[in-house]
Amino acid sequence: MRALVTGGAGFIGSHLIDRLVARGENVVVLDNLSSGDLAFIQHHLDTGRATLVEGDLCSLEDVMGAMALGIDTVYHLAANPDIRLGTRVTDTDLRQGTVATYNVLEAMRLHEVKRIAFASSSVVYGEGAPMPTPEHHGPCMPISLYGASKQAGEGLISSWVGTFGLQAYIFRFANIIGARGTHGVIFDFIHKLKADPTRLEVLGNGLQEKSYMEVGDCVDAILHVMDHSDAPLNLFNLGSHDTASVRQIAEIVVEVTGCTNAAIEYTGGDRGWAGDVPKAMLAIDKMLATGANVRMNSAEAIRHTAKVLLEEIGLE
Ligand code: NAD
Repeated sequence: MRALVTGGAGFIGSHLIDRLVARGENVVVLDNLSSGDLAFIQHHLDTGRATLVEGDLCSLEDVMGAMALGIDTVYHLAANPDIRLGTRVTDTDLRQGTVATYNVLEAMRLHEVKRIAFASSSVVYGEGAPMPTPEHHGPCMPISLYGASKQAGEGLISSWVGTFGLQAYIFRFANIIGARGTHGVIFDFIHKLKADPTRLEVLGNGLQEKSYMEVGDCVDAILHVMDHSDAPLNLFNLGSHDTASVRQIAEIVVEVTGCTNAAIEYTGGDRGWAGDVPKAMLAIDKMLATGANVRMNSAEAIRHTAKVLLEEIGLE
C-alpha cells in the first residue's frame, strides 16, 4: 500500500501520516512547505517510511511526478489554510484550492489511481443552515472564497467519480485543533498573549459558536470511515458532539497560559471577519453510525490544544 498525502507536512496531514505509517503503509508526501513544517514528518523521512516530493499542486507536472510513484490512495489535504486571506487576495483559493484539486484529479486519471479522500469544510454550508447541519442540507451557498473553492473541489471530485470511475471520500471538517497547529483561534490567542500578557483582543463579540474536533479524533475518523464505507462517492461530516463560543476559548486560553490578569477585549460585531460563518455545528450521526469515535468534546479539545500549543510556542 502506498498513499500520497498532499499537504502532508501540514498540521492535519502530518497526524494522518503518523496513523498511516503506524498501520504499515508507505507514504509519499507532496508539499511545497508554504505553511507546512518538515519537522512534523522528519521522523518518518528518517526511517524511509515517508518520501517527500517537494512540489506545487498548481503545477500538473509536479503532481504527475508524485503520482508516478505507485500510489493507490490519495489523501488530498493541501490548500491555503487562511480563510481570511480571501478578503484581501481573491485568487489564492481559486489556484491553491480549485485548480490544485483539478490537477490532483487529472494526474490520478492519467496514472489510473482510483481512490481519493478530500479535506473539505463545514464552511461549504454557508450561513443560516439548520444546526446541527446534516450532509444532505442544500443548496450549499458558501460565503467565503475559501468555501467556494472547497465546494468547487467537491464538485470536481464528484464529476471524476461519475465520469472516470473514481472512488471518493469527501470529509467536511469542523474546526480541527491540536498539537502542531499553525493557525486558528487558539494559536492566535497564545501569540497575542505572548506579545502582550495584559490584554487579549478577540475579533467579533465573542459569541461566535462552532464545534471543535481534536486532530487525533479527526484522522482516526477519516481512516475508520474509509474502512467502513464503500460507496463510489462517500460524503461525511467530521466533528464533535457540541460547540464552544469564542468567549469560552478566550477564557480557557487565558487560564491555561496563566495570564489571568489579561483584559479580554472584543472588537464587536457578530463575526471575526467578512466571510466568517459565526455559528456552525455539523450533524455527525452518519460518521458515528460507522462506529467512528469522538473522544473529546469541544471544550476538552480546546483545553488540550491550549496546553500543547503553549508547550510548542512558549510564552517567553
Ligand atoms: P496546513 O496549512 O497545516 O496544511 C496544508 C499543507 O498544504 C501545508 O503543509 C502546505 O505547505 C501545503 N500546501 C499548501 N498549498 C500547497 C500547494 N499549492 N502545493 C503543495 N503543497 C501545498 O492546514 P491544515 O489545517 O492541516 O489543513 C489541511 C486541510 O484541511 C486543508 O485542505 C484545509 O482547508 C482543510 N481543513 C482544515 C480545517 C482546520 O480546522 N484545520 C478545517 C476544515 C478544512
